Amino acid sequence: MPIRRQIAEKIGYLYLRDSLPYSLTITRSEAINYLFVIILMSTELYLDANATSPVLPAAIAAATAAMGACFGNPSSSHACGLRAKALLDATRARARRVLGAAEGRVMFTSGATEGIQTAVLSALCAVRERRLRGMACGDLLVYGATEHKAVPESLAHWNRLLGTNLELRPLPVDAEGRHRLDLLRELAPRAAFVCTMAANNETGVVSDLDGIARVLEDTKSPALWMVDCVQALGKLPLQLSATRIDYAPFSGHKLYAPKGIGLLYVRADAPYTPLICGGGQEAGQRSGTENMAGIAALGAVLEALEEGVTFRTPAQLRALRDRLAGALREAFPSLLFNAPLEHALPTTLNFSVPGMSSKELLDLFDAAGVRVSAGSACSASKAAPSYVLDAMGVPLERSASAVRLSFGPLADEAFIEDACARILHCGRALAQARPDAPLRQLESFGASGWLLFDQAGRHCIAIDPPAALAPRIAADLRARDCTLLACFDTSHGAGGADALGELLGVTPGWPGGAQQVRFGDDFLDAISLGQDVLARHGDAWLLGRLADGELLPQAVRFVFGVAPQDVAFEAALCCHRLGEPAVSRPGGEALPDEGIDLDATSAAAYLAAHPEALLVDVRELPEHAAAAAQLRGRAAHNVPLSQLAGQAAHWLREPRPLVFVCRSGNRSARAARLLRRLGHAQAWHVAGGLALAG
Ligand code: PLP
Repeated sequence: MPIRRQIAEKIGYLYLRDSLPYSLTITRSEAINYLFVIILMSTELYLDANATSPVLPAAIAAATAAMGACFGNPSSSHACGLRAKALLDATRARARRVLGAAEGRVMFTSGATEGIQTAVLSALCAVRERRLRGMACGDLLVYGATEHKAVPESLAHWNRLLGTNLELRPLPVDAEGRHRLDLLRELAPRAAFVCTMAANNETGVVSDLDGIARVLEDTKSPALWMVDCVQALGKLPLQLSATRIDYAPFSGHKLYAPKGIGLLYVRADAPYTPLICGGGQEAGQRSGTENMAGIAALGAVLEALEEGVTFRTPAQLRALRDRLAGALREAFPSLLFNAPLEHALPTTLNFSVPGMSSKELLDLFDAAGVRVSAGSACSASKAAPSYVLDAMGVPLERSASAVRLSFGPLADEAFIEDACARILHCGRALAQARPDAPLRQLESFGASGWLLFDQAGRHCIAIDPPAALAPRIAADLRARDCTLLACFDTSHGAGGADALGELLGVTPGWPGGAQQVRFGDDFLDAISLGQDVLARHGDAWLLGRLADGELLPQAVRFVFGVAPQDVAFEAALCCHRLGEPAVSRPGGEALPDEGIDLDATSAAAYLAAHPEALLVDVRELPEHAAAAAQLRGRAAHNVPLSQLAGQAAHWLREPRPLVFVCRSGNRSARAARLLRRLGHAQAWHVAGGLALAG
């Protein structure tokens, strides 16, 4: 087959250098997929700018210079110090121009969290002082319900610590994520401090700051006002001195400066209390030797903003954002945007795809080399749904699917084109990835359910389907034109059989009575599923193949529910509803699951030394379809974690060394642990996953 060999050789020549024998056997579509993975994995597209941004090359150069030739301490009176002081003063002057802050204080901080602390401390100290002097100052600390957690946490902390005992009152937002100004009007006369953000980090929703200022003015509110401007810099026009805003914190790392540098604007006659005291730097307002590398880098970014050449304008950004929105709609036709684009930053899109979880979408994008997030970076490691979308009244199932895509004003046409192409590729991968395994595990909040299909995938039985997944299972079965023969829970009330049954018009519960099969001396109630039967034995359901109308214990492949103790199932695996692992082997010897970790280099060496070993990608089908996994030139065989139980039975019958791999090493570790506990002695995984494999 000369064509195949030519493709394979070309890949070897172009990308592998030393072509490996297995690459001569790949098919054309595998070859294309393989090419994709090499290209995608070697170039990643960062679309998570609201979490942090890369550092502008000019900022790196400025920081390097500040650590090199211009290393002086700006407080020193010699020439080295004077040069550093000149840099400090020039950067502050530039910041004043960019922020429209000719008056008031502009000071350097370590980032927005410090700026927020300083503003909160200053406001609460002022409240305490005013109270002591018998002045009216309000009794509420009002903050937008969608503020970054740094705001309510700081308010609660300092309120407690200073003993001001004001009442914290979240200001609700409407369905579009904008502050309820009607409610602010009610609260404003009692507000001591009002905290709102210029733009939300998760949804990009831009606040109506003029509207808020008007309410504070109209109601003659005694409140001090902080506006968290972190997401506004470089994306929205700012003229701080012309506003009523008392405090405005900024963060460098959200706009191409490094982490650890920020700014705080304080209005000319706003109260101020230093958070950090010491050597009297920053005119005694914020002590500690200045972070000159960070300040120099931030200065380079401010210079780029001021010159107006490096970054795209809001109108250009809007056009780029709209192109991305179009690609998303095309790739995922049922997609819903969680915030109206006309009220959002021109660089942020927050969307949900009904039926898909945020994690699945993130994994799919990640497979295509597109880095996005499920919400704020701070809460990315927590499973809790977004409090921002919650505050907007977005239903739980929709917020559980939310994805944030954000880019910075440095983005150009080519970058957005590439992003659109990859988004469309993800859509195609999702559409083409139709699971066809006869046994699928469904996981939700630590509970497992099981879908059993006949060989043709035309008939299905659902056991313990998680209620949260019922709509998705129903949609999937409808799309496949697959008939649900039965859906039931193995323990009362815990599963979602009722929800799924209702959606598909099937009476939930074990139907029974359809067929009787012999099992030893007993006759069991059974349903046929293709060539197999599912038979009820007390609290257990046995899946196996009949021989002469009889189900022999050795022909049972899977047991669901509570396995009977008095029957020896030689070859069966037990599929549980709760617990990790969700699969066990009755009577089998579990092996310890320590020492399963291999780093990418040792995994590659192990695979090279064991040609019979199988590299198994346990990512789900759409991820594999987006970009097939490979480790140092070795292509992986895809068995998604949700289909591992069915495949495990085969690997236990015909053992061969297994090396599991996934995106981050979590799912592959679970797979290797499962196989070890089932008694497979040679199961390993690539710790750190494809993300660290290089
Ligand atoms: N406020 C907003 C809106 C943010 O997005 C962030 C960062 O995620 C912060 C405050 C905290 O900023 P920093 O990381 O500089 O402390």
